[in-house]
Amino acid sequence: MVAQLTTTPRLSRTDRWKRRVKTLGLRVLSASGATRLIARRYGGRGVILMFHDFTRDPRRDLDQGCRIEDFSRILAHLRKTGRDIVTLDEAQRRLADPAARRFAVLTFDDGYRSNIDLALPEMERFEAPATIYVPTAMISRDINAWWLGLTALFRDRDQIEIEPMGVRYCCPDLDSKIAGLRRVLAWVWDDFTRSEMLGPTFARHGIFLADIVDRAAIDEAGMIAADRHPLIEIGAHTVNHRALSLLDDADVRAEMTGNKRFLEERLQREVPHFAYPYGAPSLSGAREPRMAREAGFRSAVTTTPGCLFPAHADSPFTLPRQNAEYTEDGAAYTACGTAGLFRALASRGGNPLASLAEATT
Ligand SMILES: [Zn+2]
Repeated sequence: MVAQLTTTPRLSRTDRWKRRVKTLGLRVLSASGATRLIARRYGGRGVILMFHDFTRDPRRDLDQGCRIEDFSRILAHLRKTGRDIVTLDEAQRRLADPAARRFAVLTFDDGYRSNIDLALPEMERFEAPATIYVPTAMISRDINAWWLGLTALFRDRDQIEIEPMGVRYCCPDLDSKIAGLRRVLAWVWDDFTRSEMLGPTFARHGIFLADIVDRAAIDEAGMIAADRHPLIEIGAHTVNHRALSLLDDADVRAEMTGNKRFLEERLQREVPHFAYPYGAPSLSGAREPRMAREAGFRSAVTTTPGCLFPAHADSPFTLPRQNAEYTEDGAAYTACGTAGLFRALASRGGNPLASLAEATT
């Protein structure tokens, strides 16, 4: 494909306004107590929160990750609103116990060093446990961490050509870098086969994924040490972190069981909990949840927004999970998510139970 003229990407005025209005709306809702009304129907008995990387400076990281101060505010809010922060095992027990107190579960995907360096001290302060889902290839450093490659590409270079997309960007400042990165991320999310086309782009720009992963992710010794910490449990996240819906049956099975075996051999214990890479793009229907069960897992989380209800005890392989990252104000965003606001919006005020049907759309 012939690259087009070089352009400087900008966030449109409409996008900026939408984001401001959204942030204001979240703050008003979370501060006004309106979330309590939403929670009556959509709050359920508990919620699983999803984080990835943590950062002290989200703008420098091109609007990626959870600001560590927001994480601290989220934990404080959960405690203040009378929720216990529990493990996945305890969450599953509570779903079947009508007398159980309301709860939240913390989950971190992919195995970033910041989970230990930044988040763990806050978890210790609040005595809050978390599950870290780790793909094998993150530890072996040969994962196709295209999202980290793109972030590094936009952060470290001003002239960027994404050949498979047919674009050439000039990004001399943070605003244009953030705007450009968003465009390319959205392009990949439109079609996950594109995530496997970016290798030559990184090579041409001198971006080495293995080095980036080595700096960003925990290593094997760090993973084993983390799992021995009383507040941390390592969970499974496939071997190579590919969108499972693109793979045939044998490869999906190998992605799940290979990672489970890898983790269990190193941690010397059963690894019963699993997260689908990317959530919905990994779910092509009932196949992946069935294979997660057959692989011997006891739970599998999606990225479908929603809270946990007792009925989810019967569908432990498509558990909804609420994103908790929003760099404008992660605490207000998560307070609304924990009340079930995003499930209410996604279902247009309909069924509060996020189900397999939604997980695959
Ligand atoms: Zn992941």
